[in-house]
Amino acid sequence: MGYIADQIKRIKETLPENVNLVAVSKTKPEEAIVEAYGAGQRIFGENKAQELKTKYENLPKDIQWHFIGHLQTNKIKYIAPFVSLIHAVDSMKLLKAINKEAKKNNRVIDCLLQFYVAEEDTKWGMDLSDAREILQSEEFIVLENVRIVGVMGMATYTDDEDQIKKEFSEIKKGFGVLKAVFFQDKSWFKELSMGMSHDYNIAIEEGSTLVRIGTTIFGNR
Ligand SMILES: *Cc1c(COP(=O)(O)O)cnc(C)c1O
Repeated sequence: MGYIADQIKRIKETLPENVNLVAVSKTKPEEAIVEAYGAGQRIFGENKAQELKTKYENLPKDIQWHFIGHLQTNKIKYIAPFVSLIHAVDSMKLLKAINKEAKKNNRVIDCLLQFYVAEEDTKWGMDLSDAREILQSEEFIVLENVRIVGVMGMATYTDDEDQIKKEFSEIKKGFGVLKAVFFQDKSWFKELSMGMSHDYNIAIEEGSTLVRIGTTIFGNR
């Protein structure tokens, strides 16, 4: 068995049953995805719309493609026909644009709201009050082609495990508030996308349901 297949199997064995693995294949060649697919992996994450479109066209159609990075409104059209989850929605403007492209394709696109908790100002996202404002707005309520299924966030890139834990727990708290206020009876609002190669074990302890792992599976980019 090759390295990639080996890593997929090893990681999957350690994941609790309610946690799904997003194999982050950005910048990696299609052969690498094929090897992971051969090991049973079906969810892949990419962060460039055109690269994702090309991979979608060339690879098996039962792959669920997740868009994990910052999405520009003019790139939505490349992925709207097939994307299964958009992880990092950080504004009403983006949500409206996704809704428009989803409608053209006669689809409802699942999205996560991205929370900003890290101590770095290079990352995109919103805080809890921004999220509440969006979800209670008239503008949001009329959108029929997007569905918010949870939240996503990234912790500060640090060795300080207590800090990472604290940030993930803050994302989870935000998730809990949104669930209680807006989605109490909505079974689909259940995803907490947290954790990358260096911090996914902490994320799982803090309640993650979707871990996004690239380097540990595919090697350095
Ligand atoms: C690249 C990326 C990942 C994967 O990071 P690794 O450290 O390679 O596991 C996860 N989430 C997002 C948003 C990314 O951009």
